[in-house]
Amino acid sequence: MPSTLDPQLRRAIADRIRYYRDLGIYDLYRRPVQAANPTQAPPLGDDEKDQPAGATRIEDFTFPMPKSKVSATDPGSALRLIREDIGDCTRCRLHKQGRKQIVFGVGNPKAELMFIGEAPGADEDAKGEPFVGRAGQLLTNMIKAMGLSREEVYIANIIKCRPPGNRTPERDECETCSPFLFRQIEVVKPKVIVALGAVAAKTLLAVNASMGELRGRWYDFRNTKLAVTYHPAFLLRDPRQKKETWKDLQMVMKELGLAVPPKVGSE
Ligand code: URA
Repeated sequence: MPSTLDPQLRRAIADRIRYYRDLGIYDLYRRPVQAANPTQAPPLGDDEKDQPAGATRIEDFTFPMPKSKVSATDPGSALRLIREDIGDCTRCRLHKQGRKQIVFGVGNPKAELMFIGEAPGADEDAKGEPFVGRAGQLLTNMIKAMGLSREEVYIANIIKCRPPGNRTPERDECETCSPFLFRQIEVVKPKVIVALGAVAAKTLLAVNASMGELRGRWYDFRNTKLAVTYHPAFLLRDPRQKKETWKDLQMVMKELGLAVPPKVGSE
C-alpha cells in the first residue's frame, strides 16, 4: 500500500520545489522510497523512533545537488538565462524596500578573475551596475593597478538589490539571493575569486571570522581559488589598509601569472 505523506511534510516539499523553480531549477531527483518495506529501511535515528510505522521520512526527500536549467553553451547566453530566471525578483523583502532595479553583475563572461562585493548602493541601484560609486572608483583603480581593466574581469555582489539605507544585508537575504551568484560563478568559471569584505567572505566560505583573520591566504570555493581582501568602501574610511590590500592583490596576480608593477598608486 502506498504510504501517505504527512501534510506538513507535503507542504514543505511543495515549498521547496517552488523555490527551486523560482531559481530556474526544474529537474529534481528522488531516492527510491524504502519505508514501504520496513525490512529494507535503514535503522531509525533516535529522533525518528516515535514516528508512525510506514511514515515517509525527511531523508527520502533530500535532493542531491539539483541540475541547473541553464543549458546555453556560451557563457554570455548562459548569464542572460540566469538574469531571465531572476526576472523582476520578489523573493525577499528588498523588492518592496525601495530598490530601483536588480544589479546583476558586469564584465567578461569568461573572466579569469571575479570580484564579489556585498550589495548595491545608491549609485549602483540607479545605474544597474555593481561598483560604480566612490567605492567602485577605487575598485576600478585597484583592477587597473593589477594591469587589468574592468571589462576583463567580472564583478558582482552577494545580493542583487540595494538594502534600505545601505544597511548590511540580512542572512536570509544573502541565502535567498546567493544561489544566483553561485550560478554566475559556475558559468564564468574564473580562475580566482576575490571576496571584498566580510559579508562576501562569510557568505562564500560559510565561516565567521574577522577580516584580519580571513585575508592573506587562499581558500577553496567549489574548486576555485578564493582570496579575501578589504572592501573598497572600508579602504575609503581607512586608507592605511590599502597596503595590506595590495599584498592580497599581489598574491592574486601571482596566481594569475600577472606581472607585479614595481610602483603603484591605487587611487
Ligand atoms: N559596495 C558593494 O559591495 N557593491 C557595490 O556594488 C557597491 C558598493
